[in-house]
Amino acid sequence: MKPAPFEYVRPGSVDDVLSELGRDGAKVIAGGQSLVPILAMRLARPTTLVDINAIGDLGVLTSVSKGLHVGATVRQRAVQHDPTAARIPLLRMALPWVGHRELRSRGTVCGSLAHADSAAELPAVACCLDATITVASPRGERLVAASEFFVAAMTTSVQPDELVTSVHFPYATTNQGFGFAEIARRHGDFALAGVAVRVDARDPFRPTARVVCFGVSDKPVVRDVSAWLASAVATEGAETPEMTIRASLSDGSADLADDVVDTVGDAHGSTAYRRQLIAALSSRELARAYIRATQDQVETT
Ligand SMILES: Cc1cc2nc3c(=O)[nH]c(=O)nc-3n(C[C@H](O)[C@H](O)[C@H](O)COP(=O)(O)OP(=O)(O)OC[C@H]3O[C@@H](n4cnc5c(N)ncnc54)[C@H](O)[C@@H]3O)c2cc1C
Repeated sequence: MKPAPFEYVRPGSVDDVLSELGRDGAKVIAGGQSLVPILAMRLARPTTLVDINAIGDLGVLTSVSKGLHVGATVRQRAVQHDPTAARIPLLRMALPWVGHRELRSRGTVCGSLAHADSAAELPAVACCLDATITVASPRGERLVAASEFFVAAMTTSVQPDELVTSVHFPYATTNQGFGFAEIARRHGDFALAGVAVRVDARDPFRPTARVVCFGVSDKPVVRDVSAWLASAVATEGAETPEMTIRASLSDGSADLADDVVDTVGDAHGSTAYRRQLIAALSSRELARAYIRATQDQVETT
């Protein structure tokens, strides 16, 4: 199929974008990797496509305020290969899983957040890291915490007359460790289920930890698992620290999976299968993130 007819504009400033978005039925196009297929299938029929790629300010990828500022037209691949992104290990872990290399060369980080696919990696990463999204409108600029940004499947708090201008990911700090894993039928497909994990182990016996599950509900599901991890690291007796922790996490991971998976099963995987994936991935990645966070400390305590 071909898209329904639309007008195409390519403004040169954010103000001009905002005035175009004030028109009924106007829609932003950034990398086009999600929007163009949707148009081709006629699942959306915007009257006007507002192309934001001519605005230089939106293409800025820079280090600012102890974190990485990613402008609205910065491609996923540019972030993946930027040396500064090494200071955000979770972003580096997740980006290779976002579709294929060709898609990442065009697709933007902000576009993925704005699109809010429930199986997408970057919304989960943003929630795990407490990223902040900047949204501009004719009423001014507002900062939205990732935890407030995702509302439901393909739905964010961004209004039709608003533009996401950037996202800020904080750098990792000492004693933080991360984990990321997903299962998809083929590499590059959307995940059947996945987890992003963050552990802060300044005190290795009282770590704080968070697991964000994706592909299993209508938006990323965030759970604080600090108590669960703390009781697991207090257990002794397996061959390696990772094995010790994973063994102790197994009961809790089944409870987590029961709690977070609320998708109806489909041809790619049943609800029960997705629960098994979340249970296995969350305990493994939590154990690994804890080891990464404590590598130096564990040997010296
Ligand atoms: C075959 C295939 C496989 C894929 N696999 C994956 C995958 O595994 N994981 C994954 O996460 N994604 C996947 N994608 C999606 C792809 O990676 C897109 O890059 C991403 O979802 C959207 O980024 P974009 O810049 O292309 O946005 P666009 O397609 O341009 O826009 C997507 C939506 O977001 C809105 N939007 C974009 N930018 C802004 C902004 N600055 N402000 C307000 N609204 C905005 C648009 O209006 C539109 O509604 C896949 C796509 C394809 C075709």
